[in-house]
Amino acid sequence: VLTLSSSTEVLLEGIKNGDRRMLSKAITLVESELERDHKQATNLLTRIIEERREKAQIDPQSVDTFRVGVTGPPGTGKSTFVETLGTNLCNEGHKVAVIAIDPSSRKTGGSVLGDRSRMVHLGAHENSFIRPSPSRGIAGGLSVHTSDQILLCEHAGYTHIIVETVGVGQTEVSVADVTDMFMLLISPGGGDVLQGIKKGVVEFADMIVVNKCDGDMIQRGKMIQYEYKNAIQLLGHQMGDWIPPVLTASSLMKIGIQDVWKKALEFKRHSQANGSFETRRETKRKNEFWKKLYEFLKMGLHRSEPTMDLIHKLEPMVEKGIISSRKASSDIVNQIFQYM
Ligand code: GDP
Repeated sequence: VLTLSSSTEVLLEGIKNGDRRMLSKAITLVESELERDHKQATNLLTRIIEERREKAQIDPQSVDTFRVGVTGPPGTGKSTFVETLGTNLCNEGHKVAVIAIDPSSRKTGGSVLGDRSRMVHLGAHENSFIRPSPSRGIAGGLSVHTSDQILLCEHAGYTHIIVETVGVGQTEVSVADVTDMFMLLISPGGGDVLQGIKKGVVEFADMIVVNKCDGDMIQRGKMIQYEYKNAIQLLGHQMGDWIPPVLTASSLMKIGIQDVWKKALEFKRHSQANGSFETRRETKRKNEFWKKLYEFLKMGLHRSEPTMDLIHKLEPMVEKGIISSRKASSDIVNQIFQYM
């Protein structure tokens, strides 16, 4: 595929003018590992941070956004849920960006089509932007660059960012690391309560939605709601004074989605009022900084010729058992930093 590179200025203007193609290009750019792209992405993000800080000084409301993570086991109806919720928000006049990450369908390469075909209404809405999982096949999907991509969407005027993922915890970066609110979607009919869903995931949740509560699943859904409510009472929440609500909904029949959103807004108001909204974002920025630093150190290592020379010299010696892997690694780090 031939991609014509655009200058940082062109990208920036395009993003601000709501040009989806430019936004897509920029999102691809921040994922790129090419040295040239890396520099441009850095410049672009620097400009965006500057512009957003200026905007915030003039009017803090103008940079107010809400990042919502939607996670749950495959087949619980996440895409259907995001389609219904996102379309509602778009119809209310909000601009909604969806970053959909689906590692299971990525394996077959069907992720792009899959997500698109599942979010037909939302995808066609003039207020939406849907970004299917990056197709580069990184395990897990979310990366240290996901929050940069969120920032790009926000600079393009999207005030509501929904990040949809299958799992949490298995990957380097989890959806809770990049969002303001973490919604766990579950569905009835999946055996025992808490089965298949790690306790840790429930502990992270700011809200739980029991989806597919329609037809003959209504009774069972209510039972599950009750049991999760009890589980949450026992687990508590990181934000002491917030009890994660457990709601029932049907994304397919469009029942209860408005209530889910009402609760989500309540969470936002609540966390903004007690200051945790901002402190959470600060903590997340800090954590991401460290993850990126490690990532870039690794990249730098592979790009440094003298380091790679030494690595190539030592690697076969480690292989043959001539020197210990510990000694070889220390020598390499020592050459770079002179401290070990
Ligand atoms: P995902 O894998 O979590 O994204 O799940 P999908 O959104 O692709 O939905 C999986 C299947 O469940 C599809 O066949 C949907 O039509 C169906 N589904 C999703 N939401 C509901 C719902 O609220 N009620 C019912 N009955 N089916 C649903």
